[in-house]
Amino acid sequence: MDREWFEKDFYATLGVPKSASAGDIKKAYRKLAQQYHPDTNPGNVVAEEKFKEVSHAYSVLSDKKKRSEYDEARELYASGGGFGPGPGGPTGAGGGFRVEDLSDLFGGGGGFGDLFGGRGAQGSGPIQGEHLYSTVNLAFTEAISGTTTTVAVDGASVCRTCRGSGAEPGTATSTCPRCGGRGSIALGQGMFSISQTCDVCHGTGRTVTTPCHTCNGVGTEHRVRSIKVRIPSGIKNGATIRVPRKGSPGRNGGPPGDLHVRVHVGRHPLFTRRKNDLRITVPVTFTEAALGADVTVPTLDGRVTLRIPAGSDSGKTFRIKGKGVATAKKGTGDLLATIEVAVPDELDKETRELLEQLKTREPDDVRSHLGVS
Ligand SMILES: [Zn+2]
Ligand SMILES: [Zn+2]
Repeated sequence: MDREWFEKDFYATLGVPKSASAGDIKKAYRKLAQQYHPDTNPGNVVAEEKFKEVSHAYSVLSDKKKRSEYDEARELYASGGGFGPGPGGPTGAGGGFRVEDLSDLFGGGGGFGDLFGGRGAQGSGPIQGEHLYSTVNLAFTEAISGTTTTVAVDGASVCRTCRGSGAEPGTATSTCPRCGGRGSIALGQGMFSISQTCDVCHGTGRTVTTPCHTCNGVGTEHRVRSIKVRIPSGIKNGATIRVPRKGSPGRNGGPPGDLHVRVHVGRHPLFTRRKNDLRITVPVTFTEAALGADVTVPTLDGRVTLRIPAGSDSGKTFRIKGKGVATAKKGTGDLLATIEVAVPDELDKETRELLEQLKTREPDDVRSHLGVS
């Protein structure tokens, strides 16, 4: 079970309340699945992601057992505390949450406003926003040179009407009746008194009088945002770029989540890539291979001349230094050019005669080592 599993609000994904019946969930799923189905949205990456999300949410919420496990995990997650290794051990399959994930979940630690870590005062401490996930398709050369691209991100974001305050614009806020505007409440007495973040105003000291009409006072709305993402040069297919704080907004003053962008790199018609080396196949004629030749080979930046020595076998690979992928951390790779003797499909009469002549001069023991001649 991965972390994503309980970080995501599957109910919100399907647009149903937490109390929704199995029938409601099915109905909501059918509608959304139809709306985002790849068949109705060919080539639409956002719709495709959305379709996957909706399907994933439904696969959990439609299963009675999975749904109750999920609800439980979400409650723990929202309370901001009480995680421990699950029944299956820290990394077991029994639903345990990995311990090292916790610091991540709550913004690197130190973000808690109260000493109780959220336990006993449900949801009153700062909680980091959800991490959001997106994908980007890059051309082969874009991935190698690096680029800045725009990524569509679908998820909860700051409400544009109230800018996240939860208050209807133009309406006043009032002093929090619970803490009197201090933002914290003292527990205990004398030298043992500890102050805890106010669970009504979450430390702001103010409460909303008229909730925002767009978000009902929550401060967030679900929408698709365009986020600029810088792609470092030399990035590999399947790599993930983490964009800090571009996920969903935090709650109770917690930091926003991160955005994780998975990179899909397209193919190149000539080059393939292995680590930082590029490979290319270079057709040569039989005479070029036999007599030697200087052939021009394309690289990602211009062309180079490759000297093929006389007597080079088909399949021989030449290393052209420094013409591979340049990366900031791991240096620059090479271009590996493999020659392949090209045989003509059709022969004119004269060429055929020349080849017939050549045949009589060929050594007759090229396969002697196979032991079958
Ligand atoms: Zn709002
Ligand atoms: Zn308060």
